[in-house]
Amino acid sequence: MDLPLRTYLIETYGCQMNERDTETMAGILESLGYVPVEKEEDASIILLNTCSVRESAENKIWAKMGELKKIKQKNPDVILGICGCMPQQEVTIQKIKQSYPHMDLVFGTHNLHQLPELLAKAQAARKMVVEVLHNNPGVIIENLPSRRADNLKAFVTIMYGCNNFCTYCIVPYTRGRERSRMPEDIIREVEDLAAKGYKEITLLGQNVNSYGKDLEVEIDFAGLLQQLNRVNGIERIRFTTSHPKDLSDRLIEAIASLEKVCEHIHLPVQSGSTAILKKMNRRYSKEDYLRLVEKLKNAVPDIAITTDIIVGFPGETEADFAETMDLVEKVRFSAAYTFIYNKRSGTPAAEYNDQVPEDVKSQRIQHLIDRQNQITLEENLKDIGKTLEVLVEGPSKTNPEFFSGRTRTNKIVVFRGNSDLIGRLIPVRIANAKTWHLEGEII
Ligand code: SF4
Repeated sequence: MDLPLRTYLIETYGCQMNERDTETMAGILESLGYVPVEKEEDASIILLNTCSVRESAENKIWAKMGELKKIKQKNPDVILGICGCMPQQEVTIQKIKQSYPHMDLVFGTHNLHQLPELLAKAQAARKMVVEVLHNNPGVIIENLPSRRADNLKAFVTIMYGCNNFCTYCIVPYTRGRERSRMPEDIIREVEDLAAKGYKEITLLGQNVNSYGKDLEVEIDFAGLLQQLNRVNGIERIRFTTSHPKDLSDRLIEAIASLEKVCEHIHLPVQSGSTAILKKMNRRYSKEDYLRLVEKLKNAVPDIAITTDIIVGFPGETEADFAETMDLVEKVRFSAAYTFIYNKRSGTPAAEYNDQVPEDVKSQRIQHLIDRQNQITLEENLKDIGKTLEVLVEGPSKTNPEFFSGRTRTNKIVVFRGNSDLIGRLIPVRIANAKTWHLEGEII
């Protein structure tokens, strides 16, 4: 079978913001008549949507760019592009120009809407086209086409950028300052998703808790949740990520009182040591965080709290790490994403001269993972015997007789079912619990 002439492949690295940007770029390309393909050899456009959060992630992308040279040699007409966070750094652009001249197109996170014209330029010019807006233009382009990756659950970006300048993080340098979308644009997008049959939305932003602060209209994140809770057809509302310093009582009250807002919060703590939190510029203490957790648990007794933890931040002593372990014991996270600190050039922490030796970091993270996995299992075991509402997503990957879905607390549940259940909210009685999923039966 002959392939269409206009085909594309986007490889996405990093966070959900990038996944959402990929959906937009896919929508733009499809509006130009391109169709998706799965193999690089079959694509007439290959885009790498990149992530800068860790140098190890960037190294993989440099290697991928090297590999793409072979594709270019076989098919000189293919357009090779790189976008996302990496090109937002001038040093990256210089390196691409010098060492990866086979790339055709380099554009940044603020240039997505220009994709059609950039592509046309790259196709006509036959030399590298570079278009990266480094300064946040303060403008949000609405109504771009989109090809959603899922037809049940959708990401909805509510704001872009970050104002926080945590000392380990590159995001404020790559995604610019905070800009909130207008509430009516968000509501329209969610109503449109509901009309198309979507059941669950996840609101995205680097720090959703500061939504609205930059707008002239009077609205905060809790107010936005109240409005979205009224959209018919949407059954579940999730959001990520929440910065602890901006988690207001109003938001806790909204999670407790709005029936569509799920009982789950991802609240990155990063460290349990107040001294390390200060060096990270997180602007809360261990005690502040524990107080927030107490408030959340009092207001929403069944809430699942997940977190991110960085181990081996510069200057982290055994006593600091013990504080992190103590916090983990006290909070009892339902899951934690743990990371070894790695220098991220361009950030203040990369310049700190009290870096922790690699073997110490490895020992600490292993200790943390082992204990957190036990806690995750212990927390899951508490669900045995409960009947939980599950949104059925599809067949289980390992056994076609079994289906899987998620609870409101975002835990995966596996149960015997059939494909008619996909997209429905069903009650499942939990019979067994593992570290990474629950098992149950439909009642
Ligand atoms: S809050 Fe901190 S860690 Fe999160 S994106 Fe902003 S600067 Fe990075």
